[in-house]
Amino acid sequence: MLVMKFGGSSVADRRQIDKVLAIVRAAAARRPVVVCSAHKGITDALVHAAREAAAGRFAPETVLERQRGVARACGAADALLAPLEAELTDLLRGIYLVRELSPRSLDFVSSFGERWSVRVIADLFRREGLPADAHDVWDLGFVTDAEFGAARPLPGWEARARAIIEALPADRVPVVTGFIGRTAAGDVTTVGRNGSDLTATLLGAALGAEEVQIWSDTDGVMTADPRLVPSARNIPTMRFDEAAELAYFGSRVLHPATLLPAMAAGIPVRVLNTNRPEHAGTVIREVAGDDVGGVTSIAYKERQLVLTLTAPRMFGELGFLGRVFDACARHGVVVDVVATSEVSVSLTAHDREPLERAAAELASLGEVRVLPGRTILVVVGRHLAARPGLGAVILGAIADAGVNVELISHAFGAVNLTLVVKDEDVSRAVGVLHRVLFEQG
Ligand code: ASP
Ligand code: MG
Repeated sequence: MLVMKFGGSSVADRRQIDKVLAIVRAAAARRPVVVCSAHKGITDALVHAAREAAAGRFAPETVLERQRGVARACGAADALLAPLEAELTDLLRGIYLVRELSPRSLDFVSSFGERWSVRVIADLFRREGLPADAHDVWDLGFVTDAEFGAARPLPGWEARARAIIEALPADRVPVVTGFIGRTAAGDVTTVGRNGSDLTATLLGAALGAEEVQIWSDTDGVMTADPRLVPSARNIPTMRFDEAAELAYFGSRVLHPATLLPAMAAGIPVRVLNTNRPEHAGTVIREVAGDDVGGVTSIAYKERQLVLTLTAPRMFGELGFLGRVFDACARHGVVVDVVATSEVSVSLTAHDREPLERAAAELASLGEVRVLPGRTILVVVGRHLAARPGLGAVILGAIADAGVNVELISHAFGAVNLTLVVKDEDVSRAVGVLHRVLFEQG
């Protein structure tokens, strides 16, 4: 079996859905299970309608019209979506009447995008001669906890899903909702924004699929953000740990948690381009051996804060760092990068509010300085520290570009070398690094 996931831009309109049809048709012999997002922009429009209703403005027509536009272009009869339209209208009216939007109601509203899109897509497939059926994922055994906005399937769901899906008619393509789920009590949930990828890897793992394909609008994973570096190129193969590092640091291609289910099940994830299906994309898999690898890619995360705590007392004092991180944890600060010396510790975080609360407490330990507007830049690759001279190349190139590196973190055996620079320096730094790491020698 093969799990093929198509994101919002891949199913944006009739033109894109026709491409999806051709891709799925070509894969029909591999027993594809197709997972779809909502058409591009629909989830945002649903969330907007829900917030408007809670604020006293009942206006379901905007999103309904937008969805109808795509459905009609795909040749769907209005009756196909009418029951779900009525359900959404009732739901928005309820939110409007009570002027209250709980995480539970927001998930319920958000779920309509995927429920509509799979119906429209399966309907088009059938009329174009590819037998297909739309499925809400909960009818395939996907039962979640009640963490609205970040729900996860309950232990034991895999066997049930596998049994249900294997019993579906082998000559019809299942077109399944991404992103959404349902609790055992019947409440609709979502796994989080952009979560259809996660639905796909979870299903892939449950089914023991040969591969999970994530179809999007780039030629797989690139060596750098093509908007910053026009000469960025495709990475044919990556390991899970490298891809996870990249996903975390701003690569728009994959959500960080997405890879975990596939990784645990040892199932390769392939990232492909709906607009260029002939391109092999990037395959992410566990590779045997542990050899010294090259640099895979460069990624970055902007608008970070750097907190530096300078405390002469820290010298030789037991448990000092423990107290620092304890304060961070208590105030809910997520720390990304850390560097320490004998008398100071610097760390990065991205949320101003919790960091300011922690800073107030840390001020009792020493002098605190918080600098906003920083970018974390990571060079990702296997065993970078084992490659003599690489650090000098990287830092030399950045210095030559006139960019100041304010913090460095790097561990032996790690898959990243992390630098912190000012936001305004990021495009220069990424450009020069791409040149020396990928375009020379
Ligand atoms: N439609 C959902 C969203 O926009 C999920 C997804 O696209 O993966 O967040
Ligand atoms: Mg998306």
